[in-house]
Order: sequence, then structure tokens, then C-alpha cells
Amino acid sequence: MSAKVSTEWLSGCSGCHVAIVDLHEKLVNLAEEVEFVRIPVLMDEKGYPKADIGIVEGAIRSVHDREALIKLRESVKTLVAFGSCAVFGGPSGIGWLYDRESVLKAVYDEGASNAGGERPDADVPKLEDSVIPIDEVVPVDYYLPGCPPSPYFIASALRLMLDGPQGKQTPLVSGPSAASASARCARRRARRFRKARSPRRTQSAVS
Ligand code: SF4
Repeated sequence: MSAKVSTEWLSGCSGCHVAIVDLHEKLVNLAEEVEFVRIPVLMDEKGYPKADIGIVEGAIRSVHDREALIKLRESVKTLVAFGSCAVFGGPSGIGWLYDRESVLKAVYDEGASNAGGERPDADVPKLEDSVIPIDEVVPVDYYLPGCPPSPYFIASALRLMLDGPQGKQTPLVSGPSAASASARCARRRARRFRKARSPRRTQSAVS
């Protein structure tokens, strides 16, 4: 019987999902053992079908990210934080340097490509106050860092979850993990960095 896999992308660049597609023949080799029931890069599945393994890319930046992550967690038995954005914050983690109002002001009020200065209306999901690591919202079972993780590690990680550890070296880190602690540590450093800067310098940096 094949294992059902469900994936979701939150705030990231989608490169981690492209890396799954980049598995090429390794994906074909896994085809008889893995059934993707949800994978946004390949299929238009809006719901969250029950699955054995959940794979999540990206960090939480918006209310939509938070809701999508909770729905995915509720629908899967095992959840993998997939890629550096999900594990550490990644490029999305730069958002830790600025609060929500500074970001909205820089992009929508003062951004060169938004001459009218209008902000998104109520139909657009609200930004969270800052970027939030996914393991602060739901329990994470495994962490697979990389930007994106290499196809070799993705295939090895799937193989491991299908077969069990069996003493093999694994690219997966199980939680609660050093990865989680690193994400919190990075966020503390960003807060200290932000506090150390004067309001004026911070303002000019986002303008
Ligand atoms: Fe993109 Fe890298 Fe983030 Fe993956 S970890 S979503 S490749 S920025």
C-alpha cells in the first residue's frame, strides 16, 4: 500500500516545491510507494485530504499561512518542515527586522510601483505582526533544511519515512530539535539588531 503525501506552501519562493519536481527519475522510482494527494506545484487541490506525511514549505507571514498550516497539520500523521524558510525562517525571516506597519508603509504607501498608495483591501489575507516559525503554531515531527533541500536529501528523507530509520544516516532532524532552537535564536538576534538601530535608520532602510 502506498503512503499518502500532502504538501503546502506558505510564505517562501516555491523553490522547495520545484525541488520536489526536480527529483525526476527518483520521483518515478517512488511513484509506486508514494501517492501525492495534494501538491500545489502539480495539482489544483484546494482541500486537505487525509495523508500519512505532510510536507510544508515557507514561514508564516499572513493569516492565510497560519490557517493553511493548521489545516495541513490536522490532516496528516507526520509533518516535515521542508526547506530553510520552514525550518529557520530563511529569506522570509528578514521580515523579523521590521514590524508590519513598516512593511506596509514601505511597500504600499511609499513603494515606487504603487503610485496611488492604496493598501490591500479586506479580501487580502492580513499580514501577521512578524514572521513566525511554523513550530510555534503546530507540532513538527521532522526538519529538512536547505534552500532548497537537494533532490538527493528529499529522496533520502522520503525513503527513510517509508522504510524507517534502520540505522541509516538521515538528512532529517526529529523534533524538538536544534533547528527549532536555531529559529528562536535567530529571531532573538533579529530583535536585538532591530532594537540597536535608531528609528530613523530603520525607517530609511525600508524606504
Ligand atoms: Fe525558496 Fe529557499 Fe525558502 Fe525553499 S527555503 S521556499 S527555495 S527561499
